[in-house]
Amino acid sequence: MSNFIGPEKIIEKKKEYLMPCSYHFYKNPPQIVKGEMQYLFDSNGKKYLDFFAGVSVMNCGHCNPEILKATIKQMQTLQHTTSIYLNQPVVDLAEKLSKILPGNITRSFFCCTGSEANEGAILLARLYTGKNDILCLTNGLHGRTFLTMSATAIPMWRSDPNLDISVTIVKNSFDKELSLEEASENSLKSIEDAINEKGADKIAALIAEPIQGNGGIITPPLWYFKKLKALLEKNNILLIIDEVQTGFARTGKMFAIENFDVVPDIITVAKALGNGMPISAFCTNDKIAASFTKPSASTLGGNPVCSATAMAVLDYIENNNLVLKSKVLGDKLKNELLKLKEKYPIIHDVRGLGLMLGAELTLENGEAASEETDLILESLKDKGILVGKNGIGRNVLAFQPPLVIAENDIDFLIGGLDSALSELYL
Ligand code: PMP
Repeated sequence: MSNFIGPEKIIEKKKEYLMPCSYHFYKNPPQIVKGEMQYLFDSNGKKYLDFFAGVSVMNCGHCNPEILKATIKQMQTLQHTTSIYLNQPVVDLAEKLSKILPGNITRSFFCCTGSEANEGAILLARLYTGKNDILCLTNGLHGRTFLTMSATAIPMWRSDPNLDISVTIVKNSFDKELSLEEASENSLKSIEDAINEKGADKIAALIAEPIQGNGGIITPPLWYFKKLKALLEKNNILLIIDEVQTGFARTGKMFAIENFDVVPDIITVAKALGNGMPISAFCTNDKIAASFTKPSASTLGGNPVCSATAMAVLDYIENNNLVLKSKVLGDKLKNELLKLKEKYPIIHDVRGLGLMLGAELTLENGEAASEETDLILESLKDKGILVGKNGIGRNVLAFQPPLVIAENDIDFLIGGLDSALSELYL
């Protein structure tokens, strides 16, 4: 890189030219300059095993050569026309998606980001139901636009002090005092109370993540979404499932909601669909789609390059059995994390499905072990492993690697984590 400036200068430039809301991990952050499948490399040539995949984006690995081939080929042929002209990659992609999306969900509208997809899903729910209000759950995250930030119930991600009052946050806290089952029953009860209070005739939809990613890999019991769907159906309220972080083989199924055996009314997808290229979509069945007839278009949404890449992503997931791999390796990783939980009392809980796992760290007095979480993140980084961090108390270690990892990568992570945890007790 001829114009290389290095980590310190990057931080200086960030301070000077980016908005101050832009944070980064680590006290001494490396400058990542190269990616190769499950590995990243910094400007000193140090190699890292990536266990966060840019927040569940790089499911097929960094700079995956098979996918890049499709991207580059399309880039060299035709980059952009917008939707007023016919283009084949976007309809091929929509057709392919219709074959893998759950149940009768066969229609897609393409855009560029997760926020945009969720915003579109809410619009669609309003058009179809003729109702306006939206329910969302505490600890959920749905985006950065006005409406989706309003539906984001994690305080640190709600920058706007005057968010939209058509969105009601329903308590879904998985309280440490309660078992998961009890907490989930309480969550359904709170939703029912909110419906009764607001009136079912006002509420268009409830939006939820199947596993709350940024909320701390909060994973409801497998019966939860069936009961939730039945409750919503009884009240003519749509269920929007946000698969932005959980989609595309991440949780041992193509879509996380399939673990719960439920077909939602609308599904949103983003992140891993493009494996690093910006593409997202909201998807639904014929009946609901029929309400969206007024012209609408996203200038760059589903452009030929992103669509061709997404096609290659879906082929790669299929040809390399990433759904099964995520389940098998996820089970192995969970077992290993549970063994560490026995050894280190700071690990309060291990949860998640497939390769979307979290380890919540708490102190003896039950408080969030946020500082310790940071120390572990830092120590792992020094050992050449990058993991994520999330949760309301910023005390959940997040393990969401590219799905192309091998078994020995899990051994390497567990060895590193074991030693990072033991350092805490020195
Ligand atoms: N929904 C979920 C579940 C997410 O995790 C995110 C991003 N972390 C979003 C929506 C927003 O996606 P984007 O940043 O692409 O707008």
